Amino acid sequence: MQRTVFNEDHDAFRNTIHDFIAKEVAPVHHDWEGEGHPPRDFYRRLGELGVLGIQVPEEFGGGGEKSFKFAAVVGEETAAAGVSFGSYSVHTNLILPYLLEYANDEQKQRWLPGFASGDIMFAIAMTEPGTGSDLANIATSAKLSADGTHYVLNGAKTFITGGALADRVLVVCRTAPSTPEDRRAGLTILVVDTASEGFAVGRKIEKIGLKASDTAELSFTDVSVPVTDRLGDEGAGFSYLTHNLAQERLSIALGGSATSAAALQHAIAYVKERKVFGKPVAAFQNTKFVLAECATEVEAIQLMADRALELHDAGELTVADAAKAKLFCTEAAGRVIDKCLQLHGGYGYILEYPIARLYADTRVSRIYGGTSEVMKTIIAKDLGL
Ligand SMILES: Cc1cc2nc3c(=O)[nH]c(=O)nc-3n(C[C@H](O)[C@H](O)[C@H](O)COP(=O)(O)OP(=O)(O)OC[C@H]3O[C@@H](n4cnc5c(N)ncnc54)[C@H](O)[C@@H]3O)c2cc1C
Repeated sequence: MQRTVFNEDHDAFRNTIHDFIAKEVAPVHHDWEGEGHPPRDFYRRLGELGVLGIQVPEEFGGGGEKSFKFAAVVGEETAAAGVSFGSYSVHTNLILPYLLEYANDEQKQRWLPGFASGDIMFAIAMTEPGTGSDLANIATSAKLSADGTHYVLNGAKTFITGGALADRVLVVCRTAPSTPEDRRAGLTILVVDTASEGFAVGRKIEKIGLKASDTAELSFTDVSVPVTDRLGDEGAGFSYLTHNLAQERLSIALGGSATSAAALQHAIAYVKERKVFGKPVAAFQNTKFVLAECATEVEAIQLMADRALELHDAGELTVADAAKAKLFCTEAAGRVIDKCLQLHGGYGYILEYPIARLYADTRVSRIYGGTSEVMKTIIAKDLGL
């Protein structure tokens, strides 16, 4: 089915990203996977190209674009090429809305130009060893100093994408206990400078996929965080998360659309090439039927992701809409990629083949940004259940 979500501006941007990946990313991506992340300067290169700052207002050195569709284009092109831009997507797709919506003017002046140029890379730390799905249970604590000038931050976070190279981390912490009426009360977001004394990066976590994106443990021991680095209001952290997790989930849904489409293309090419019992794998009726099912499912994923993208650009994507899009697009992408891998036989299990990496990379999309089960609880709540 004809897609209607992109216009000529997006197509021109797509060509730029496509060429950039072919020339500057694909030839070295294998090294990044070995290293666990791209070199620090790669992010400055993305800044130079205008990719980090597309949605940063022009007065702060960005492109001033309001639409999230450019980010969707980057996701589709990286998936099609089988590469990742490290923690780019956390920096731009997850964190920018927090800075645009909750940073004050002085903070925007300090952070946004560096955000757009790649000189200040951001990560976001919600998850802790003791809590992931249940964010109200966050235990990392920040106590305001007696003179009211700074917080003293203590605790630990885990699974933090881009955490090893970040210059600033949005740390969700507890500045007051929760109340019996509201478990979500008392959470605050501090924008912690990673050069601060007491901030430490622990183990880099070994993952089954997403090898070019670092995932780190972080710890805070009496880290002094100026009150001027608090994002928005004290105690309002949970409502900020609820609001902004919708864009995070949309971006993961778009990832499901991009990776399932890429898997289908890999499978079509492979089954035409590979011969078994003297004929191409494509000649078996089973192959045709499986790929026909996959093509249909890819279009259903695309339709849902594209619709969610349009609603988001219009400011109308609800929390439940985003949960539905993430749930459906990632679960269906998992089914499609698994079937496409099966058609590769043993080669589908070998990392040299893009389908194997897609399989490993995509598995986490049903877990991070809120698990499929958590998406179902959000949707059920919206149904009044
Ligand atoms: C590669 C990677 C990158 C990540 N990047 C970041 C990051 O940058 N920043 C960050 O803060 N976090 C990040 N995360 C953490 C991620 O968001 C969490 O792993 C995720 O939210 C799940 O939390 P958990 O791992 O603690 O699982 P748990 O919460 O321990 O869940 C265990 C199981 O219980 C199920 N479950 C939980 N609650 C319910 C319920 N109410 N009903 C039914 N079943 C339920 C879950 O669905 C799951 O199956 C990342 C994780 C990974 C793997």
